[in-house]
Amino acid sequence: MSDSKYAQQGMSFRESVEHMVDHAIEIMELDEGIGNALKVCQSVIQVSFPVEINGKAEIFTGWRATHSDHRLPSKGGIRFAPIVDQDEVEALAALMTYKCAIVDVPFGGSKGGLVIDPLQYEPHQMEAITRRFARDLINKGYLSPAQNVPAPDMGTGPREMGWMVDTYRQMFPNDINYLGALTGKPVEHGGVRGRNEATGRGVQYALRELFRHPKELERCGLSGTLEGQRIIVQGLGNVGYHAAHFLQTEDGSLITAVIERDGAVVNDQGLDVAAVREHIAETGGVKGFDGGEFVEDGMAVLERKCDILIPAALEGVITADNAERIQTKLIAEAANGPVTFLADKILQERGIEILPDAYCNAGGVVVSYFEWIRNLNHVRFGRLERRFHEARGEQIIEAIEQATGVEVPEHLSDRIGRGADEFDLVRSGLDDSMRLALQSIIRLRQENSRINDYRMAAYALAIEKVSRHYKDIGF
Ligand code: NAD
Repeated sequence: MSDSKYAQQGMSFRESVEHMVDHAIEIMELDEGIGNALKVCQSVIQVSFPVEINGKAEIFTGWRATHSDHRLPSKGGIRFAPIVDQDEVEALAALMTYKCAIVDVPFGGSKGGLVIDPLQYEPHQMEAITRRFARDLINKGYLSPAQNVPAPDMGTGPREMGWMVDTYRQMFPNDINYLGALTGKPVEHGGVRGRNEATGRGVQYALRELFRHPKELERCGLSGTLEGQRIIVQGLGNVGYHAAHFLQTEDGSLITAVIERDGAVVNDQGLDVAAVREHIAETGGVKGFDGGEFVEDGMAVLERKCDILIPAALEGVITADNAERIQTKLIAEAANGPVTFLADKILQERGIEILPDAYCNAGGVVVSYFEWIRNLNHVRFGRLERRFHEARGEQIIEAIEQATGVEVPEHLSDRIGRGADEFDLVRSGLDDSMRLALQSIIRLRQENSRINDYRMAAYALAIEKVSRHYKDIGF
């Protein structure tokens, strides 16, 4: 069992996810055999390898788990963190199966992790370690465009994906689809525009969709629009930063606190998220940021009053120990597993609604899917049709002006006459995926009287889809 917050409460992260799935299986009255097939992690490897660091061989240990391969490739991030273990990797792989099903991405579920503190190593050392890990995964059949496609997660990003895909290319120079072996790559190396921001952007789209459903908002004790909603964010990394930044700058939400490793910065009038991020990049933490008050006990800030709480750092931060003191109306789980099984029960009893991780942070895998398609197609989205649509738009403007004798105002003609580029198309596809998934979750919750929360509705939706595959095709 891992030494995480989960384990301290007598239940591992994997067991916590299993409990939630068990509940959904029971609600869906699923056949026991299919239920068991759904839950089991199909395979997992552990690798340990030496890398020479400052003249001495250092041993690194990592895992990659495939929870399901009913659809191929299996998909899921690779995490670099000091505390990673097999249990956590298996739990995250299972979440990937459900996540893909919820947002209709035709992939199985997988996840990987390496025990390392990336902050302790020079870039050239990180490159050697990452390439060696990739080689082991490739050699053991856990990394390829057809079977298992990793992506970034905590502690990894485009840089690591770039090193890994280059390692794959060197080992398989004849594989014309080598770019599809990883997603979340730098745009210059086969990445898709919009992938880096995708998970945070997806959190924003999830909240926007919720705010289109007044009855659901009422359930949460919220009203109006996202403008002016007071939001607390934990973790201003890739996911937390993009979610907070877009909500602040595009929806007018107030980010009243940012919690980081060294404490929190609080400002009831709203923080400038980009400035906080810059300060963290310069100093390594939020302490000393002059646009808000510094609070050393970051965990206490998680319990402050707000409308929406976005945990976007790590798992197990809301537990049976602090769930009674959480004062938000809605939790949007941008991180994976931030609320433990026991905490989930307490929050439900207290009427605090949760948009679950398996839905809320699925934006990353949605756009990874687009990136994979782009890599297999060998063409950028929009390349063929953009100018055609621009010409069509200009013809429409011309026709309107000729028919009416009135000039179309410039702000409208600019919009009508503009062809969509890759960014536009990726965002549009992501928005559509997040909207449709939440609509299905809401529908299931409204239709099934045994479903009392969004998490159960999301799991029920996933389980219905994956079990249908097993029923139709077999195991
Ligand atoms: P990241 O490494 O970019 O950011 C994590 C942030 O959390 C960092 O700013 C870090 O300083 C902060 N942090 C770490 N420990 C903390 C603590 N104890 N208290 C407060 N802050 C702390 O990672 P990320 O990619 O943004 O991932 C964050 C979460 O989102 C993880 O749970 C990850 O599994 C999940 N997720 C990420 C993606 C993705 O596309 N990157 C997709 C789906 C889910």
